[in-house]
Amino acid sequence: MPKITETTLRQQLSEATRMMVMADLLDYSGHLSARIPDTDRVLIQPRDSSRAGLTADEILVVDLEGRVLEGNGPPPSETAIHLGVYRAREDALAVGHGHPPLSVLFSMVDAPMIAMRNFGFRFIGCPVHPDPTHIRTLEQGAEVAATLGSGRCCLLRGHGSVIVCESIPEVFLDSLEMEENARSVINAAMLGPLKPITPEEVVRLRPSFERNGYRIAKTWGHYQDKARQVGAL
Ligand SMILES: [Zn+2]
Repeated sequence: MPKITETTLRQQLSEATRMMVMADLLDYSGHLSARIPDTDRVLIQPRDSSRAGLTADEILVVDLEGRVLEGNGPPPSETAIHLGVYRAREDALAVGHGHPPLSVLFSMVDAPMIAMRNFGFRFIGCPVHPDPTHIRTLEQGAEVAATLGSGRCCLLRGHGSVIVCESIPEVFLDSLEMEENARSVINAAMLGPLKPITPEEVVRLRPSFERNGYRIAKTWGHYQDKARQVGAL
């Protein structure tokens, strides 16, 4: 399969950012990034650009030290989250950092993330990074990467989420499903004792809800159409 181009990555970053604002997964802060394949160059939006109207051509290129190589304006103050992951993980090609209000509640209590939705098993036991401050330095970024380990997600205590994938559409899908699962846990708990997805059920759910191309593409296409209909793309 041909490698994804920088032009396509810029387009995906712009669309995913706008669609995440539309889906209440990002607000005026938070950001997505992508590694340009086979390089140490990372695409990330400027700090001050609106997430609701981000364009492909304003996205910056930074190196793994956070120096701006192309584009105008400083990178986001928490670019170190992304750099920490890319420096530690060769498999990481796309990273999302947001402040999803319901998922973050699980970083504030002594109760691990559980799965109530069938797709939610991917987030069971999502680790919580203890540092509640802004992640501004490469050292802090490395600590976030250590909390992630080889996993695909972690929560930052009292702050936000970090999602690590192989593509921007996957970051979008995981951001959506993590928050939807968190919403279901909280709402279901108001009705009565919870009956979470069990380890045996996880095994049976994997064929349907482990990452697979058609679910990623279907979700991405659905939100692209929805965003176009309301003028967000
Ligand atoms: Zn943040």
